Amino acid sequence: MIPLDIGAVLVVFVSVPLLITATLALYYNLRTIHHSARERESIYKCADCGHVYAFARNRPMDRCPRCGHLNEAVRT
Ligand SMILES: [Zn+2]
Repeated sequence: MIPLDIGAVLVVFVSVPLLITATLALYYNLRTIHHSARERESIYKCADCGHVYAFARNRPMDRCPRCGHLNEAVRT
């Protein structure tokens, strides 16, 4: 039987999932950085004045720049 040090086993069981998680987080962070600003824009259509506008912020609702009416995003 192979003698196993309990400390080494714990280090492997903690560090391997941590390394996998860190690698995946880095990969998804780099992927979202390379998305263009247009892909991150939300499009809104004002229910009050009909003005169509887009903001790069990811909010479910935003104010119309023309009249100030609060509108839901048509597409996020
Ligand atoms: Zn408006």
